[in-house]
Amino acid sequence: MGEFELIRRFFFTQVVDAEAGVVLGIGDDAALLQPTPNHHLVVTTDTLVEGVHFLADDDPASLGHKALAVNLSDLAAMGARPRWVLLNLSLPTVDEDWLQAFADGLLALARQHGVRLVGGDTVRGALNITITALGERPASAGQAMRRSGAQVGDWIAVSGVPGEAALGLAQRLGRLNLPAALAAQALARLHRPTPRVELGLALRDIASSAVDISDGLAQDLGHILTASGVGATLELAKLPRSPVLDAVPQDEAWQAQLAGGDDYELLFTLPASALDALAHLPGKMTLIGRIEAEPGLRLRRDDGSLFTLARKGHDHFA
Ligand code: ADP
Ligand code: MG
Repeated sequence: MGEFELIRRFFFTQVVDAEAGVVLGIGDDAALLQPTPNHHLVVTTDTLVEGVHFLADDDPASLGHKALAVNLSDLAAMGARPRWVLLNLSLPTVDEDWLQAFADGLLALARQHGVRLVGGDTVRGALNITITALGERPASAGQAMRRSGAQVGDWIAVSGVPGEAALGLAQRLGRLNLPAALAAQALARLHRPTPRVELGLALRDIASSAVDISDGLAQDLGHILTASGVGATLELAKLPRSPVLDAVPQDEAWQAQLAGGDDYELLFTLPASALDALAHLPGKMTLIGRIEAEPGLRLRRDDGSLFTLARKGHDHFA
């Protein structure tokens, strides 16, 4: 199968789709897109590399889902509605079953969010998946959800249950042996993260800053603290719990929750005046700390003593 046959067979989508803002999709030298008036384009890209982000024998449908999910998560953290994506694929060989499952996983999540695949590139090489996602948000959203927006006194909140994906990875690598039902839950969180798209839209009017948790809660919160010129204390007893997290010793659970990464939950700050809105947001939200003037991040146990992370979050070059 040649390059063009491959694209046509697995990735071809409707060429013209006025409702989706696609004036011209896959098949020409470039796509023509119709942005919504008075909106900013919000653009992000993320790469998954075999051996770094996934293993060669990982389920291809989950990989397709995850490659898109991590990009939609970045758009969600900016309060953007996702609209279009580009897919750059580097493949060592043409494995039709693998490609079909990968495309199914990716396109199913795209459909779920009304996102259109409008182009990409396909080359031979080591397995490598790069997706570029384009979203939109009203120009009137202005400074909303930037990392630099946190203010002293703001509350820190997180969606979902961070930490389960990290335990899923430990399970996947044979470093942990959870009971079957808990292992399935942890592995699902690792392989099929849920991008918090609706939450991101709802946070535009509430959050003073936001970030998605990809490299570990503490490290990603650190980006907000640095950009905002503030510090914070997290109350470890307030971190959301689950049967999966309760299955490992406390310090390991905290380590997974604070430095594990791969959660794709949203971490955000909000002023005390917006606390009432928290109950109306889609999904589970937990208040875990406050923004303070003193620089740095303090992780406080119930008894007031401070917890130190054994390993910090993920850094490709550290
Ligand atoms: P060009 O050589 O002009 O860059 P290509 O031959 O690489 O064009 O691609 C042909 C068409 O197929 C283009 O519209 C391109 O965006 C699209 N395309 C290529 N690879 C992919 C892919 N993996 N997924 C979606 N569209 C793709
Ligand atoms: Mg090309």
